[in-house]
Amino acid sequence: MKYLALLITLNCSAAQLDFDRQPPADWPMLRYHLYLVTAEEMRILCPIRQPVHGCAVPLFATGKCLVFLRENDEQLRNHELWHCIGIDHVGENTMRDAWIKFKGER
Ligand SMILES: [Zn+2]
Repeated sequence: MKYLALLITLNCSAAQLDFDRQPPADWPMLRYHLYLVTAEEMRILCPIRQPVHGCAVPLFATGKCLVFLRENDEQLRNHELWHCIGIDHVGENTMRDAWIKFKGER
């Protein structure tokens, strides 16, 4: 079990959070909801990067951020919660683009 958690952590750090960049200034406060899901559910819920051990899905219209995890690993959970406050991976704009797209559709 410990070994598995270590693997997840390593995999997670492969996609590093970009703490050098501030989230968008108008990023909204999102209430997070944590869900532990199966690998099959993960494939449906987190289609962006496969295989994944977790993902964060911001729902701006309802002020929520859904966090899906394969298991409740603390580092993985924290990683996804950073996404919920608008932090992207280094070299990516996934959360930023989602917020811009949402604002454009309002
Ligand atoms: Zn991530």
